[in-house]
Amino acid sequence: MPLYEYITTDPEKGCRICQKGFELRRPVSRPPLEACPLCRNPVKKLVSKSVASPKISKPLSVSDAKKAGFTVLEKRDQGTYEKL
Ligand SMILES: [Zn+2]
Repeated sequence: MPLYEYITTDPEKGCRICQKGFELRRPVSRPPLEACPLCRNPVKKLVSKSVASPKISKPLSVSDAKKAGFTVLEKRDQGTYEKL
């Protein structure tokens, strides 16, 4: 079961657990956690440090990546990904 890290989306509303971030084991089949189990305020999943994307010395352009059949995702401010 993979270990996910979550943190509150709004530090002013979150409790002391989700303000600092917490780890949770969760089956892949379950949808991502959307609220703190303790205070029920919205949380977002943190990208795990251990599976950070490998550094690519010469990044491909978006169009090159699309030509190669990749789905290109761009990180937005709130930790969500938008399909380009
Ligand atoms: Zn909380």
